[in-house]
Amino acid sequence: MQDKVSLDPELSLDWDQEMAASRPHDCVPLPSNHPLYVLYTSGTTGTPKGVLRDTAGYAVMLKWTMSNIYGLSPGDVWWAASDLGWVVGHSYICYAPLLHGNSTILYEGKPVGTPDPGAFFRVLSEYGASSMFTAPTAIRAIRQQDPSAAVGRKYPLTRLQTLFLAGERCDVETLEWAKKNFGVPVLDHWWQTETGSAITSSCIGLGNSLTPPAGQAGKPVPGYNVTVIDDDMQELKPKTLGNIVVRLPLPPGAALCLWQNHRLFKELYFSKFPGYYDTMDAGFLDEEGFLYIMSRSDDVINVAGHRLSAGALEESVLLHSAVGDCAVVGLEDSLKGHVPLALCVLKKDVQKTEEEITKEVVKLVRDTIGPVAAFRNVLFVHGLPKTRSGKIPRSSLADLVNGKPYKITPTIEDPDVFKDIERQVEKVWRRHAD
Ligand code: AMP
Repeated sequence: MQDKVSLDPELSLDWDQEMAASRPHDCVPLPSNHPLYVLYTSGTTGTPKGVLRDTAGYAVMLKWTMSNIYGLSPGDVWWAASDLGWVVGHSYICYAPLLHGNSTILYEGKPVGTPDPGAFFRVLSEYGASSMFTAPTAIRAIRQQDPSAAVGRKYPLTRLQTLFLAGERCDVETLEWAKKNFGVPVLDHWWQTETGSAITSSCIGLGNSLTPPAGQAGKPVPGYNVTVIDDDMQELKPKTLGNIVVRLPLPPGAALCLWQNHRLFKELYFSKFPGYYDTMDAGFLDEEGFLYIMSRSDDVINVAGHRLSAGALEESVLLHSAVGDCAVVGLEDSLKGHVPLALCVLKKDVQKTEEEITKEVVKLVRDTIGPVAAFRNVLFVHGLPKTRSGKIPRSSLADLVNGKPYKITPTIEDPDVFKDIERQVEKVWRRHAD
């Protein structure tokens, strides 16, 4: 017998009592835009926002994506390794595979430690999954613990055809590692809680390439008219960093509004760039129309007038073989406005000293991004704050490293990590003042 909790009669119902009193009920016809659920965003740009979704448009969009984006046929086994409480869980553990006649794997566990870094490989192998969807952070965690995938390689992945990633920028090193060790095309695609499914992707079912260029997150999915503009709403040339926006209207499945807050919905997403949905992400398109997501717009660092994305700098830092994870934020600087600071987590069993690694990382950034980045500051930390879906709250980190009050949103998995960084950051201030 488990302990009984005390329930608040205003807020809670007792499952057993309610089930005992329940009677079978016929299906109820509803208007197509009847609200289906409220789901919160991860809150990397502020407080999590409650996204209200409709029913029919969402169902149509989701079913369409299973064959056209993910290339699955009814009967195939599919695994979205996410939490049910996030949008990926709602859309792709629950509704989309079931609407499309796919078996869906619901996994309660981590990519490492439950019990080992072979967990993803084992589940894929045991259930014969054709395709999988996860976040880059999961791949990085496996790679950090089992760099050669020795544990994972014990499980043959004979049915697996594709691995899709989303949730945060995937650095090329991680993408290549996943390709090699899962032995399938690894495709990054971009979306938001607000949209409920991918905005850009490689659409396998529509015959898109399985080998798109490194660093991209696909091309606009039918229904999305994506473009990149500057703050004056001028469209930018290929390969120029700017605001990623979607020309209205949005396709079926996108948010109806924010829960009980129509005003904020309009103000946040539709007022800065009239006629567009503001994704609040920064990035660029290339000549072929592939989109590259570099960071949240708020996380672009302005170094003496040069706009640098956190994503590009992190990509360079992660090229160093000792660095397992990294977040770059802007450190206030009296001369340049801001200079980048890299918070780095080292891989296990690294032999080099922090001084040696710092020198090499600084050189790597200088060689790949250039001296304009004015990159000199590296801070080694035990861990980075992340949401359960793997996102780094860079704006809170930026406040922290600049000695300002910072906000810890409720979606952060381990808030103590902030305290550890706070203890370390004084070293940077001392060095920076020298
Ligand atoms: P959420 O608040 O959980 O809906 O997160 C949405 C945000 O995650 C996007 O606006 C992006 O900043 C980020 N994101 C999602 N997918 C990708 C991707 N493939 N590459 C880079 N960032 C991504």
